[in-house]
Amino acid sequence: MKLIISFFLLFSSFPCFSEWHQKQFEVMGTLAKVEFESDDKQLSAKLIDQVVAEMNRIDHLMSTFKPESELSKVNNLAGKHPVKISSELFKLLKASLYYSELTSGAFDISFSSVGYLYDFRNREKPTENQKKSLIKQINFHNIHLNETDSSVSFDSDKLKIDLGGIAKGHAVDQCIDILRGYGIKNAFVSAGGDSRVIGKKNDRLWYIGIRHPRDEKKLIINLPLEQVSISTSGDYERFFLQEGVRYHHIIDPKTGDSARNSQSVTILASSSTMADALSTSIFILGSAKGLELINQIPEVSAIIIDQYGKLHYSDDLISVK
Ligand code: ADP
Ligand code: MG
Repeated sequence: MKLIISFFLLFSSFPCFSEWHQKQFEVMGTLAKVEFESDDKQLSAKLIDQVVAEMNRIDHLMSTFKPESELSKVNNLAGKHPVKISSELFKLLKASLYYSELTSGAFDISFSSVGYLYDFRNREKPTENQKKSLIKQINFHNIHLNETDSSVSFDSDKLKIDLGGIAKGHAVDQCIDILRGYGIKNAFVSAGGDSRVIGKKNDRLWYIGIRHPRDEKKLIINLPLEQVSISTSGDYERFFLQEGVRYHHIIDPKTGDSARNSQSVTILASSSTMADALSTSIFILGSAKGLELINQIPEVSAIIIDQYGKLHYSDDLISVK
């Protein structure tokens, strides 16, 4: 009898009827991860397949590297005439223009009019002449959305857009919605630097670290998180060094150059789409202007490492630090 009771106690102290399932995979030029708790093995396998398929679907829709993507079609044609687009792309373009307004133009998907000339793997960047002639194309006001027929047009056929600063966040939100739709309560989904958590990890909070921007082995901070999205934009993800200058993938729309005010920006927000767009934008704005903006938006927090390596926190984090 004693043995039976201790057996019972041993097992009842673990939430042993649920299991964790996880998968890591490559998509959108980065590493994605999904992890969740469920006691249904069959459903879990199906959900993992659905998450992988969803991320790939969004990649096929919004990649500028795939000539057949819906976004490539827009880039080829919207400067000539209005192009009808899917409601999903329309919504994300609308969100992008909203973040452009919110960030006084720091977030601008037309950065790509110059940005497409950077190739970080092959250490290529636009010449001064190319920049001079194309910089005027970077202007989100020249992107027009028409709600009535779900179309987009550009004022110029030299204007190009790229959703690299917001699409991964959107993909993470979509995948969390899929998991929640099937009743999953505890989960983590990430795509590159964009993550979102729901519920808990084995009755504890989730922990996500922010790495040191100049030393990949060091963590700056390990954040306990619950029910939140977190996005980090850094100048160490895709870059090359030339004559001591770091050329990286976050482009200041005013100059067409890599943004120089920050090394890393982390945003906490209720959705990954928002966290993704804001981490890219605040990186460009830098700590002073960036914090001024973040401190005005309720329920959004920021951790900024400026160009000198100094840490800055939004007001809400300072009070609990
Ligand atoms: P990651 O792609 O590593 O997750 P970010 O979320 O910071 O990093 O996004 C960087 C990407 O955002 C770039 O690769 C580019 O596609 C896009 N981007 C760069 N500059 C801007 C900008 N000024 N506005 C909007 N998107 C941008
Ligand atoms: Mg981003």
